[in-house]
Amino acid sequence: MRSVDDLIAEGVSGRRVLLRADLNVPLDKSTGAITDDGRIRASLPTLQALRDAGARVIVAAHLGRPKGTPDPQFSLAPVAARLGELLGTAVPLAADVAGDDARAKAAALGEGDVLLLENVRFEAAETSKDDAERGELADRLAALADLYVDDAFGAVHRKHASVFDVAERLPHAAGRLVARELEVLTRLTQDPDRPYVVVLGGSKVSDKLAVIEALLPKVDRLLVGGGMCFTFLAAQGHGVGGSLLEADQVDTCRRLLAEAGDRIVLPVDVIAATAFSADAETSVVPVEEIPDGRMGLDVGPRTVELFGATLGDARTVFWNGPMGVFELAPFQAGTRGVAQAVGAVDGLSVVGGGDSAAAVRVLGLDEDAYGHISTGGGASLEYLEGRQLPGLAVLAGRAGE
Ligand code: ADP
Ligand code: MG
Repeated sequence: MRSVDDLIAEGVSGRRVLLRADLNVPLDKSTGAITDDGRIRASLPTLQALRDAGARVIVAAHLGRPKGTPDPQFSLAPVAARLGELLGTAVPLAADVAGDDARAKAAALGEGDVLLLENVRFEAAETSKDDAERGELADRLAALADLYVDDAFGAVHRKHASVFDVAERLPHAAGRLVARELEVLTRLTQDPDRPYVVVLGGSKVSDKLAVIEALLPKVDRLLVGGGMCFTFLAAQGHGVGGSLLEADQVDTCRRLLAEAGDRIVLPVDVIAATAFSADAETSVVPVEEIPDGRMGLDVGPRTVELFGATLGDARTVFWNGPMGVFELAPFQAGTRGVAQAVGAVDGLSVVGGGDSAAAVRVLGLDEDAYGHISTGGGASLEYLEGRQLPGLAVLAGRAGE
């Protein structure tokens, strides 16, 4: 797989580079302001390297899930503004993805300039299952540039026009972020230093079963918190009150517990709340005693201690998924405590998942404590599951001409 630095070494001065970036940042629902610009900042090294080398950079990205048609609430306008602030240069936003305005603005770029295309998901073809439909959009995107660089690690598991098809149409390379993500994920899958501990949380166990199945044979310990722990606790025969429960996954969790023995470690206490609200009444209860009228919205202090002790001698850690509803202040302590224990690990610590990475920043934790904070939740999980990721396969397949 060629890297953007290979392209730069060959010379990109004056050339038009289409850069697929992951700028899918969370926005405040009422004000539309960016609440966490981590993904924008993670995209800067590749972008800046291309600018410094004199490239004319055309950035393609998506935001949220518009329904394949322009929708102002998903416009990349706030992202263009923030990107401009961070780069210290104006970043114009094209009014369309790869139409007349994008063509005109791309043609007007000087060396080192940056243009942001409007949300690629404003075109239904971006995510279409139909190769010809995606191909038509990829043709228009490819016509804007001479070279293609994919730095959108968070999207490499998608067979989308701006991720997959366009790479078949232009000489291509991986950006620095994609290269770094791959390097770290390779270390997690090939001969990790031991003990190797994986911490999983988040909301739905069904999202994470495949990765649990794939990782169980490889890990020394699997710590499970977050909303998904309740399906495991139910599989052990505990009542979980009004907590998140995926009844159709209980049997699978029971089988996994039987297979894993004591390698799967579950919470011993939880914060039980009367409602999914920051004003709810709460109490700390052992997992054997979750009252019927309450829901577990965070792991409790004894669990933080237990997970911390288990992480104490780890040499490799992968953490995905918050331990509780960290968006609400009363349910942050579990995620904060476990995140701190992950950061304190003497070895490689990797945080994967959009919400987990956001939690690190929102809770004011030291990002530098971690070996790596992945920007791609779904992509890193699919990689760890051992699946082929279309965006990576296409980069590895045909070296750029
Ligand atoms: P990531 O993006 O890091 O992969 P997920 O998307 O799987 O993480 O899960 C994040 C969500 O899980 C958060 O919005 C958080 O509020 C939610 N969550 C965590 N614990 C619980 C819980 N006990 N009950 C309900 N939701 C939870
Ligand atoms: Mg998430």
